[in-house]
Amino acid sequence: MPPALLIVILVLLAVLGGCAWPAARLLRQARSDRRYRAAGAARELAWEQLTRSLHVQTLVLANSGLGIAHIRERRIQWANPRWAEIFGVRPEQLAGASMAPFHQDAAAFEAFGRTGYATIEREGRFSGEIRFRRADGSPFWGFLIGSQLVSGKPEEGAIWCLEDVTAKVEAQQELDDALRLNQRLIAASPTGIALYRAADGACLLANEAAAKAVGGRVEDLLRQNFRRIPSWVGCGLLDQAEAALATGAEQVLETTLTTGFGVTRTLACTFVPFESRAERVLLLMMSDVTERTLATAGLRESQERYRAVVEALNEGLLIVGPDQRYDYCNSRLAAMLGYSVEELLGQYRTFIVAEEDLGVLEARRASRLPGAAESYELRLKRKDGKTLEALMSVAPIQDARGRFVASPVLVTDISVRKQSERERDQLMMELEQKNKELETLVYVASHDLRSPLVNIQGFSQRLGRSLDEVERQMESCGSIEDLRIAAQPLLRERMPAALEYIRASGVKMDAIINGLLRLSRAGRMLLHSEALDMNRVLEASAAAMAFQLQEAEGTLELDDLPPCQADPAQTAQVFSNLLDNAIKYRRPDQPLRIRVSGRLQGALAVYSVEDNGIGINLEHRARIFDIFQRLDPQGPTRGEGLGLTLVRRMVERNGGRIWVESAEGPGSRFCVELPAV
Ligand code: ADP
Repeated sequence: MPPALLIVILVLLAVLGGCAWPAARLLRQARSDRRYRAAGAARELAWEQLTRSLHVQTLVLANSGLGIAHIRERRIQWANPRWAEIFGVRPEQLAGASMAPFHQDAAAFEAFGRTGYATIEREGRFSGEIRFRRADGSPFWGFLIGSQLVSGKPEEGAIWCLEDVTAKVEAQQELDDALRLNQRLIAASPTGIALYRAADGACLLANEAAAKAVGGRVEDLLRQNFRRIPSWVGCGLLDQAEAALATGAEQVLETTLTTGFGVTRTLACTFVPFESRAERVLLLMMSDVTERTLATAGLRESQERYRAVVEALNEGLLIVGPDQRYDYCNSRLAAMLGYSVEELLGQYRTFIVAEEDLGVLEARRASRLPGAAESYELRLKRKDGKTLEALMSVAPIQDARGRFVASPVLVTDISVRKQSERERDQLMMELEQKNKELETLVYVASHDLRSPLVNIQGFSQRLGRSLDEVERQMESCGSIEDLRIAAQPLLRERMPAALEYIRASGVKMDAIINGLLRLSRAGRMLLHSEALDMNRVLEASAAAMAFQLQEAEGTLELDDLPPCQADPAQTAQVFSNLLDNAIKYRRPDQPLRIRVSGRLQGALAVYSVEDNGIGINLEHRARIFDIFQRLDPQGPTRGEGLGLTLVRRMVERNGGRIWVESAEGPGSRFCVELPAV
């Protein structure tokens, strides 16, 4: 109730209380009072004043913003227009009307009888908010002030002033509802809430969750002053609280502290400063995150342990995520491939796979059952471009619905193993080849040595028989002259001829044994492999052959040759031998042309020595590299059939191979493949 309204009402009641009521009756009585009229000028003046005062009262009553009524025995005696307006009726309908219809119902009317009317009869005054009903049935809240018309005479009824306060009451009720809801929310909130007054630090409000978070009771918290909580000092809470008040900005802090109630907790705190009823207050919201922090720390610790194990692995570890990119890789894998871990993370899943094996990888993925683990060999590409051979052990992880989650891959470097496997295979191949060669050698040697040996045996026997015959002739011949004549054919023809055959066979056997020795030496000679400038090697060989070439009226064309990795002496011998053969096996009917060319093919340098000589028939090609094999032993060209055997052995010892591409007629092309530099 505003004080101004109260004053108006009291003045009005005083005026009304001091005069007879109603004013019209009073005026009529005054005019008829003869004695009063005869009182002279002074009384005339008083009469004037009274008349004016009554006019004022009538005006006030008619125009007042308050509803004013005289009610006696719960019936309206008189009411001003505002009263009629508030209840939604015409003023003339009110005179003598009962107040009953204006209450909510009969019960409410009776209840007001026990409170409002009874109080005014007993105490002379009443005030309060009452729920009324307008004539159209709509409810409203009215603020009523009532006072006995004539003090101490309740039978005279009371003057009532009424104000429609529906809007105010409803707003207040809404506010009360909101406040109640707020209080309930604060009480039930799982977040600890405490409110402190900035001025003196006193705790104004605290909920159960706040008490629980610090291990105390709500009453304990309400007795606290945040500036005097010792545990707030060291952990930063006090600093943050003051900072929030000083800056007016929210402050957030997660801290571990031992509270004054003896518990150690990790609390996530937010300080929010604000103003309430012209007072600065500080709201603290806190959540107990001790368990979460411990769990996080535990998780971190177990992750650290796991990471340490993974990092200590001698194997590379890679995890491909659902986006098909590297989610994780250990430093061992990065080191194996020459990258940093950061360079690998986030790369697409095929980033480290060598191009030549991309097909292998995709085929593997396509054939693998979802979620099935498997291992396979794959070539990987190092940062420096080199290839790393690896064993990939893949164990895809799926979720409960069978969707791909991640694919951990254990990467084992098997380069060394693969290299030794290759070396072993190479050695096995060489061994097999050598065995074959040895077999051929034994066969050829025994075969080729047999004919001179048979010759030697045959002619030795023949020599022996000739000697026997000479001896018999010595016994039978009478004179030296007879003996000379008889032995002459033996001594001059048969025996020297036999001896010549024996000598020639010996020479043949010597040549064969020498050839075998050379071959064996070529196989045992120490190798000094180095990067060779093949242009210089061929130029030197060509220079050494200049005379034969001139004799043969031949031309030698040397292309630009790529370098290779081989033993210089053996390589020079290989090409000298091939050039020598090209000159030897030329066609007599046309000028000799030799061309040496070369090209790089991957990790190999391939050279060819081409001539326009007699060529080699297809069926003889394999044979020419066998020991002592000559295609035309009776032909005009001399040779042992050992040159190409030696050439092949030397080329193979240098990690290469030799073959011939030729057909009889258009010449031959010998190809030599050696490791490139
Ligand atoms: P040799 O030359 O001592 O006979 P090789 O082992 O060098 O022994 O050659 C074996 C055989 O291969 C030769 O006898 C010859 O028949 C054939 N041959 C080698 N080189 C050529 C060539 N450039 N053109 C034609 N035939 C060749």
